[in-house]
Amino acid sequence: LVEIKNLHKSFGSNHVLRGIDFTVEQGEVVCVIGPSGSGKSTLLRCVNLLEIPQEGQVIVRGEEITDPDCHLDAARQGIGMVFQQFNLFPHLSVLANCMVAQTTVLRRKASEAEQIARANLSRVGLDDKVTAYPAQLSGGQQQRVAIARALSMDPALMLFDEPTSALDPELVGDVLTVMRKLALDGMTMLVVTHEMAFAREVADRVVFMDGGVIVEQGPPAEVIGNPQQQRTQDFLRRVL
Ligand code: ATP
Ligand code: MG
Repeated sequence: LVEIKNLHKSFGSNHVLRGIDFTVEQGEVVCVIGPSGSGKSTLLRCVNLLEIPQEGQVIVRGEEITDPDCHLDAARQGIGMVFQQFNLFPHLSVLANCMVAQTTVLRRKASEAEQIARANLSRVGLDDKVTAYPAQLSGGQQQRVAIARALSMDPALMLFDEPTSALDPELVGDVLTVMRKLALDGMTMLVVTHEMAFAREVADRVVFMDGGVIVEQGPPAEVIGNPQQQRTQDFLRRVL
């Protein structure tokens, strides 16, 4: 579903991604782990071209979105993204937050958008919060709204960038439960996370990044359970 070839990204003289190659298959959950500053967020942002790589290709559903002729808006529509900060519209209700892109970008009728928004809010366990405003919700609830909002666009792929790291510890579990359910439903997911237990349990594959390269990747039992590379071992010793 996603193919990344020889991706390079620099900010000025800071060469952040130094030749990244990997793929995400349909229905696969890939977790990206690695130290702060290793380029995980930059990689994720290159997958939907929030950052433009200097070199390399990103191919999503057979379409090379790094091709300057690619219709970027259309390509992006198939990719949902959930950030550490939830970025909800504060002046819109939960329901309206999940409808606005559907009606403006996908041009769905309000009645259809509302039905889809309600179904996705139900999926994340927030049926009773549709009329609330973001400020009235906990961080975990806001993050689940952000997930429902992304799902309402029918993405083929969901990107998550540390979706639980801004949350109070007691709220992390609810968000991870929603993500685990999504994975079981067959959603293709690329997840940057510090939650090793989640990666171990839910990921089909774990990618360990350090210094802008992929140091090691494979099933969680290998990369987390029995890492082969010294850098992976050092990182896991610090975080586990
Ligand atoms: P963390 O675990 O702390 O989120 P990360 O692995 O996600 O780290 P990135 O956010 O991808 O790391 O950052 C990698 C490097 O790129 C850092 O040195 C950072 O300062 C730099 N960087 C990221 N975004 C920008 C930007 N928009 N402009 C300039 N430098 C940037
Ligand atoms: Mg990051």
